[in-house]
Amino acid sequence: MNKYTDSNYQQVIQDQNQEILYKFSENKNLENLEVTKFIEKTSTIDLLKISNSIRNKNNPGIITYSRKVFINLINLCKDSCSYCTYKKEPTDINSVMLKPSQVLSIAEAGKKLRCTEALIVTGERPELKYREAKEWLNKLNYKTLVELIADISESILQKTGLLPHTNAGSLTKKEMSMLKSTNVSLGMMLENSSESLLNVGGPHEKAPSKNPKVRIKSLISAGELKIPVTTGLLIGIGESLFDVIDSLLLINELNEKYGHIQEVIIQNFAPKDGTGMENYIPPTNDYFLKCIAIARILLKNINLQVPPNLSPKIYAGYIDAGINDWGGISPLTPDYVNPEYPWPTIKDITKVTKMKGFTLRARLPIYPQFINNCVKYGNFVPNSLKKFIEDLIDNSGLVKEEYAK
Ligand code: SF4
Repeated sequence: MNKYTDSNYQQVIQDQNQEILYKFSENKNLENLEVTKFIEKTSTIDLLKISNSIRNKNNPGIITYSRKVFINLINLCKDSCSYCTYKKEPTDINSVMLKPSQVLSIAEAGKKLRCTEALIVTGERPELKYREAKEWLNKLNYKTLVELIADISESILQKTGLLPHTNAGSLTKKEMSMLKSTNVSLGMMLENSSESLLNVGGPHEKAPSKNPKVRIKSLISAGELKIPVTTGLLIGIGESLFDVIDSLLLINELNEKYGHIQEVIIQNFAPKDGTGMENYIPPTNDYFLKCIAIARILLKNINLQVPPNLSPKIYAGYIDAGINDWGGISPLTPDYVNPEYPWPTIKDITKVTKMKGFTLRARLPIYPQFINNCVKYGNFVPNSLKKFIEDLIDNSGLVKEEYAK
């Protein structure tokens, strides 16, 4: 029986769509072309009604966020994406190569503000391109960036109790295994599964690490290692709706196999001065809302995040599209990837979430579903992390309310 026929989208969907809705509900033989046609002929309002109702069924009443510090460990990068302002050259006054003691100071300051996540971000393998990055590592007695991240993560965990979550690009299986005992989860955007974005003039022409084959390999490795992963899509960089759907179906397929995709970020491209795409037209709100809605419809109960800071005036509307998370928000550090777009305050986001009829709760950088043993996929939390996680959560697996206040 079609699980969705008893919900409110019966009111909005015509009979001829029942077959595809059945396939959505059962995740059965979904063909991209069929999904694309369905999306194209369904109005955004109707799509939002469907996506909203799926979120309300799987995640009723609560929208989450992660209270974090953003540790910008090294912002040199061997690649060049044409929308990026994060990457810096060593000669740039804003280039950063932190010392472990500086990292620890940030984490300690975050602890005082009751942050629970230490987000460690780096460019893609900077030591392969820049002598300065290699020298920085050697001076600290490390050969590779991942060795340094592993030690820094251990030190953050032991000295502050903040939970590390690293986003260092497309890591190998061996590198991920070095982070598993200290990182509760890892982050790596797929961006999109379409190789056309690597073409000459495309946003990833000079970013071989954004080759979807490379990214998919990393996602598979994380699955094999049972590491919860946050991934996501960047919307409006030259992809088609078909590509978006293809990417979501791929993420779903990986998650079906390994059960490790804890969250998918749907991020809108925002043109930035000084980049190759500064004059590129950003996605329309209608297209972006459709992308969020289709993500919710296809990904079912995978947590769905849209960063609020990239759309400061309209982010409340993303709740209507079916999201259940606002991502990491820091009371201390800026969003170094999008410094042009400051995060709203936690007070503001609490207000907006409440206005939409939801309660804002702080979560850890590992979602509740991954904390306890999963019947189908097994255990995602190594013993080394259990105590640190349990210290921070209540029975719901979210951050204790008295701690998050
Ligand atoms: S988006 Fe990431 S991979 Fe691309 S240039 Fe920026 S830091 Fe490097």
